Amino acid sequence: MRKEDCIFCKIANGEIPSKTLYEDEQFRVILDISPATKGHALILPKEHYANIYELPEEKAVGAILLAKKMMAEMSEKLKADGFNLVQNNGETAGQTVMHFHFHLIPRYQEDGQHIMWKPGTVTQDELEGIKNLITE
Ligand code: AMP
Ligand code: ZN
Repeated sequence: MRKEDCIFCKIANGEIPSKTLYEDEQFRVILDISPATKGHALILPKEHYANIYELPEEKAVGAILLAKKMMAEMSEKLKADGFNLVQNNGETAGQTVMHFHFHLIPRYQEDGQHIMWKPGTVTQDELEGIKNLITE
């Protein structure tokens, strides 16, 4: 299903033009309009899924295989020194477009980007409690 007011549904299905790097029946890969680095790309499913929880398993497999293929090809062509594969779910996590997507972000030495988190601190007891919360 496509969502009427979703910009990524429109881009993925070609209603809004984009710089397309790859397209098949299920996915379109485009260049991000506000790139973090040279070649920053997005993998968009053509069907509308708001986030990873809604994404069916077979599409999740397809998306990760496509990410792997694109990253290898882009890394070679762009002569990237590294790559970040980023995927945000929910506003709090930084998601701004509520249509599932992978960010493929080529990295270059001294590209000035900082796609990291601030390391925190935790005790062994706290870790044990969190582990139990998740696994019990
Ligand atoms: P996120 O914050 O994870 O939801 O990422 C949304 C991404 O979509 C951002 O990196 C935006 O720059 C990008 N973006 C938004 N609108 C467009 C557009 N029309 N074409 C290409 N990329 C877009
Ligand atoms: Zn959509």
